[in-house]
Amino acid sequence: LATDLVTDRKIVQPRKAVLEMPEYHPPLAGRDALRLDFNENTFAPSPRVVEKLQALTAEGLTKYPEREPVERVVATHFGLKTEEVLLTNGVDEAIHLMCVAFLEADDEALIATPTFFMYDVSIKMMTPHLRKVQADATMEFPFERFMSAITDKTKLIIVASPNNPTGATVSKEHLLAIAAAAPHAVLMVDEAYYHFHGESILEDLSTVPNVIVARTFSKAYGLASLRVGLLAGNAALLKSLRKVSSPYNVNGVALACLPVAVADEEYLSWYTEQVRIGRQRMMDGLRELGVPFFPSHANFVLMNIGPKHAALVGAMRRQGVLLRDRSTDPGCDGFVRITIGIEEHVTRGLDALK
Ligand code: PMP
Repeated sequence: LATDLVTDRKIVQPRKAVLEMPEYHPPLAGRDALRLDFNENTFAPSPRVVEKLQALTAEGLTKYPEREPVERVVATHFGLKTEEVLLTNGVDEAIHLMCVAFLEADDEALIATPTFFMYDVSIKMMTPHLRKVQADATMEFPFERFMSAITDKTKLIIVASPNNPTGATVSKEHLLAIAAAAPHAVLMVDEAYYHFHGESILEDLSTVPNVIVARTFSKAYGLASLRVGLLAGNAALLKSLRKVSSPYNVNGVALACLPVAVADEEYLSWYTEQVRIGRQRMMDGLRELGVPFFPSHANFVLMNIGPKHAALVGAMRRQGVLLRDRSTDPGCDGFVRITIGIEEHVTRGLDALK
């Protein structure tokens, strides 16, 4: 019956940008193995978050979630004012809100590739004028060429530091230079992997009015399933973002857990240290195995496997370890990414690789 209806009626077409966009189904099925494929926390969130979850009652489920009190707590934690932050449904939504709030159809947006694919998706929903500056074979951020790609029409620039999937960073000096070269644009610095690197532009926000920082609770905090991200920056820019966000974009369970998660700094530094030590072990191990890789400042390492990339991913799966083939990313033919987690999981990843 459904098929008849579809063929009999003329189906309404979406906007051209939507029609042209490929559907994305994250390869999450059959992941009953060690998941070193999605840059997740491989262990668990803070035990205090687990306690908080267990203490939640069903009563709260009937109420609309109240975001603002939690934004107050989070803003204070980051040394910011409440009007300088916005909680989002993951950084995924934050990227979308940035595009909706700032991009007109004839504006240009600028990103460096390879990078997180959601920038491309959200930008193209608003404007076809997306400029991409490709990294060279080193996979370092192509600063000089990126600066040259800024035009009078550039309105939104997105830079991830550390970047996914390369693990490369952009120095604070370079970020400030980009912001200064494009005062007519907003620069979004995606610091999803900040904790594994340690350098942030957050403390400079008061001096650069056109920079917005994004942070996630999906990685170091281990709360990917709760879907929480944070945007921070100039209060006037944040006001625009608040206008385009749904007032209930972050769910009540996430909001209940967030103050507990940010307060447990001991857990955060423990997990971050696990990743830093594990990343060094992984890079040393890869060097011993003669596997070329790109030095990483995040919770993953990008390896250059070459023509046998798919065979390696398949063989690792049979050993019970999932990796992410990044071969289809621009300039990444033969590249495979491995997540770094707690010591035990790094050991299992390395043993399987050997
Ligand atoms: N930014 C980058 C650079 C990422 O790699 C990811 C997740 N893979 C995200 C943002 C999305 O984070 P969230 O879970 O907060 O939506």
